[in-house]
Amino acid sequence: MKYYDKLIFELGRKGRSGYSLPKSFASAPAVPENLARKTPLELPEVSEPDVVRHYTNLSQMNFGVDTGFYPLGSCTMKYNPKINEEVANHPLFTGLHPLQPRETVKGAIEMIEGLDKTLAEITGLKHFTFLPCAGAHGELAGLMLMREYHLARNDFARTKVIVPDSAHGTNPASAAVCGLEIVEVKSRADGLVDVEDLKPLLGAEIAGIMMTNPNTLGLFEREIGEIAKLVHDSGGLLYYDGANMNPLLGKVRPGDMGFDILHLNLHKTFSTPHGGGGPGSGPVGVAESVLPYLHIPVVSGFHGNYSVMMKAYAYILMLGRENIKMAGPLATLNANYIKESLKDCYKLPIPSICKHEFVFDGLINDGAHDDVPGATTLDIAKRLLDYGFHAPTIYFPLLFSQALMIEPTETESKETLDEFIAVMRKIAEEAAEDPNILRSAPHNTPVSRPDETTAARNPIVKA
Ligand SMILES: *Cc1c(COP(=O)(O)O)cnc(C)c1O
Repeated sequence: MKYYDKLIFELGRKGRSGYSLPKSFASAPAVPENLARKTPLELPEVSEPDVVRHYTNLSQMNFGVDTGFYPLGSCTMKYNPKINEEVANHPLFTGLHPLQPRETVKGAIEMIEGLDKTLAEITGLKHFTFLPCAGAHGELAGLMLMREYHLARNDFARTKVIVPDSAHGTNPASAAVCGLEIVEVKSRADGLVDVEDLKPLLGAEIAGIMMTNPNTLGLFEREIGEIAKLVHDSGGLLYYDGANMNPLLGKVRPGDMGFDILHLNLHKTFSTPHGGGGPGSGPVGVAESVLPYLHIPVVSGFHGNYSVMMKAYAYILMLGRENIKMAGPLATLNANYIKESLKDCYKLPIPSICKHEFVFDGLINDGAHDDVPGATTLDIAKRLLDYGFHAPTIYFPLLFSQALMIEPTETESKETLDEFIAVMRKIAEEAAEDPNILRSAPHNTPVSRPDETTAARNPIVKA
């Protein structure tokens, strides 16, 4: 029996306690009769070891980048250096009040200005706003800036935005929330945006295009210069989804490619922890042309997700101008190493050299025979959990039916990658022998296969 099999209330025994407080000499404040409770409050009466074990066990039901390899494509689960936490948790920062007078928080403001300057240098854009608290939030803010830019020029016809078919789902979603109509541009067989398909889409109704480069297949859009010229010549702007800017850091700048607006996910690219719904920071940067419409002030009511910003800044300064250039090549090397080591077992629809991530399209031999259905990408993902690895991103991008999107990041050692490769090969063998081993996985986790739709739509987060 594990501690988490029981509710904390069930662990309690009358009269047991896990604390001792000094006797209080203050008299209890009088509670008005109508507000006072009539029956005693029933709290769990538990010892300190019970509490510690209960919550420690609960915490271990989860998987994090601190517990194991987490190759979640398009999410950059890189290791988060602990120095970030130390810096962000310094009492001189955590003790600040968000409404303190400006002259008493000069250091905190210097941090924001320093981060603005560094990100401007990394991206080739002019300035950033730190209002948005997530990538999708940044996309919406960025698209609103795009709309503002056109409206300020009395150009009211630009109500559509072009989004490639390989785009991250938040791109079309943010465009729709912004009231823009989405026009899809197709990818070619090599995974890059089809410039010939793009040309006829451009015109007086197009506010701009949303892209990311490398794109979500981990491929560098080599024709980005031509695309930028075409879009600008037709009066539109270029929006860059910089959630995963890892492969470009210190090497190539979206501003130099011709992008006008961009958001970054500090919580992916810049090693601040994320997942489980937060916390994030999705600052939006703009080129000179869009600068007049940037939000003032540049931080939200309570200065954005300040501690996330601190962690990202600590990470950037710790790496420095020279070392930050190594993140991209190492992430790229790691991704290509896994890709090449597994392509004889897993279908590789786009075989070219990738950047920081790549996509498999399920198993070459999924084990299907007679009446037994083969193992799917979901089954592979579930089986990986049994071997102590987090699953890659699955069923995204939508271009392939069995997508497995793998992004190892630069912070993993060759030994870890080799273990992952060995496990992926073992899973491929298992599938070929008996796909039911995969179809019934995971076998070793506290929860096996929840109904994912119900779990997402109707989460029961407390029993
Ligand atoms: C994660 C991600 C987003 C969305 O970021 P959130 O912080 O989850 O809102 C947008 N685009 C891409 C490419 C991403 O990987």
